[in-house]
Amino acid sequence: MLSIIPKFLTLTALHSNLHTFLSSPVSKRIHLFHNSKPPMAFSSSSSSSVKVEYAKSNRSSCKTSDQEAVKKLLAGHDKFLEKVDKTTQGIENELQQTEASDSKERKLCASEAVVDINFSVSDAKSKYKDATLLPKWKAFQTVIFLERDDGLRDSSKIAAFDFDGCLAKTDVKRVGADAWSLMYPSIPDKLQSLYNDGFKLVIFTNESNIERWKNSRQVAVDSKIGRLNNFIENVKVPIQVFIACGLSKSGRVQAAIKEDDPFRKPEPGMWQLMKQHFNSDISIDMDQSFYVGDAAGRGSDHSDADIKFAEAIGLKFYVPEDYF
Ligand SMILES: [Mg+2]
Repeated sequence: MLSIIPKFLTLTALHSNLHTFLSSPVSKRIHLFHNSKPPMAFSSSSSSSVKVEYAKSNRSSCKTSDQEAVKKLLAGHDKFLEKVDKTTQGIENELQQTEASDSKERKLCASEAVVDINFSVSDAKSKYKDATLLPKWKAFQTVIFLERDDGLRDSSKIAAFDFDGCLAKTDVKRVGADAWSLMYPSIPDKLQSLYNDGFKLVIFTNESNIERWKNSRQVAVDSKIGRLNNFIENVKVPIQVFIACGLSKSGRVQAAIKEDDPFRKPEPGMWQLMKQHFNSDISIDMDQSFYVGDAAGRGSDHSDADIKFAEAIGLKFYVPEDYF
């Protein structure tokens, strides 16, 4: 009898664990389930099962009283495993429901943010106000865009990125097409593999200098578009680009602005423009698409425009250091 006491104690401890687990709130149970490691007794290969298998194989050599005790132990163990199976199934169902609900919430959020944008090809200009754009670049309202980079394919899967502080390291004090460097060395490989996996790559970037530098707008336009052209050439992958040139009413020098520009992040206008007019009417798979940006509202971030942009659209969001 003494020989089975440790095994019995092990099972008692496991029953106690299960009781604690079952009496926890659902959110805690999901946490416990995710963080449990074998041998938390949620699989038949756990250490308790190994001990019971040992008891089974040695049953014939036990005394009668020990054999009765082993029988009880095995019966209890089977019931225990049955209960664990049911509980595991229940938790898996709860997890599936939670994931489905998250996805539904993202889609609902996206449908709430939809604004119809009237655009026709004749609306696309080759100048932004008094500044001339480089070839292939066009302007529509307060947006400058590169719609058709060579080799670009529209897709249901959108890999979207901010530019400054995400893909390119830039300095507000420096101007010019060459005044930038790659933010992370892994960027070219990552972007190329996304392209090869059928994603369309899109950059959504704010550039209020183009609006604010009224007397040197051409310099601001050439600098921004030049950097983007050079970046695309460097990473050797086609990218669609949208630059929001408008201002927000909250900016320090824009006291006279009454309304936020609808295309400036965190407003979702650039995304809606892409989705409604520059993706060949292909509906976007919001579960596979995502957005990466550095303005995530953290202590050292200059703003939360990127994370709010992703939330307004219903896109998954990553900060660059996590993604790259
Ligand atoms: Mg940024």
